[in-house]
Amino acid sequence: VNAIAARGVEMVYQSGTERFQALKNIDLEVKSGDIQLLMGPSGSGKTTLLSILAGILTPTSGSVSLLGEEISKLSSSKLAKFRLENIGFIFQGFNLFPALTALENVEVALNLKGIRRAAAHRQALDLLDQVGLSQQAKRHPQDLSGGQKQRVAIARALAGNPRLIMADEPTAALDSHNGHAVIELLRNLAKEKGRTVLIVTHDPRIIDVADSVAYLEDGVLKSGVRTR
Ligand code: ADP
Ligand code: ADP
Repeated sequence: VNAIAARGVEMVYQSGTERFQALKNIDLEVKSGDIQLLMGPSGSGKTTLLSILAGILTPTSGSVSLLGEEISKLSSSKLAKFRLENIGFIFQGFNLFPALTALENVEVALNLKGIRRAAAHRQALDLLDQVGLSQQAKRHPQDLSGGQKQRVAIARALAGNPRLIMADEPTAALDSHNGHAVIELLRNLAKEKGRTVLIVTHDPRIIDVADSVAYLEDGVLKSGVRTR
């Protein structure tokens, strides 16, 4: 079963009279429960493809199915709801709210998913525990290390138990020790609950935990490599 299927995806960026084709006829299938990497040089189209697969950016042509739902056919409100329920996002720069504690950063995500206060509090504590941050629940992002911040971001991405996790350079801002901890965590997340994890990365260490690696070059998807 494919959790993610892209067919004939093309992306043309248009600014004024300039036209730039960032993606060319992309076909990609990601099996349910897999950790799929998207690699390639800077400017090859990785972020563009991730944004399209996440339903954040509409491709110029082609179709995208997530969990059997053809998202290209959903209205924007249905798509927003689908994203909220099914996709957890992890960003390179963590994107935490600086004024909120680690716990509150996770609670907010749960609130957004319609989970009420008391339950959100319990679940947020549980999620922080899962990423090994129970002791830091009351700290603000500025008082956390990079690795700890990224673990808060991962806990937040897991709010509501989405079946798809999409991450853009999740270890880029981390030193080697913290990077390793985050990679281990991502692997456990996929293996424990059968979540499908799509990661854009330059980090060769992540290849060790990936099931499949796809390479982009100048907007063209080179054949993927199955690593296990
Ligand atoms: P990567 O995904 O390879 O890490 P990003 O897409 O995140 O790279 O881009 C990193 C930064 O470089 C962003 O600020 C982006 O706008 C910029 N950037 C991307 N492609 C180009 C390009 N062709 N020319 C100039 N800047 C670019
Ligand atoms: P990567 O993530 O692999 O670095 P991107 O998807 O960010 O690549 O960018 C792919 C190409 O598309 C780059 O040449 C970049 O400059 C271009 N690009 C990205 N975003 C835009 C945009 N909004 N408008 C025009 N060109 C863009």
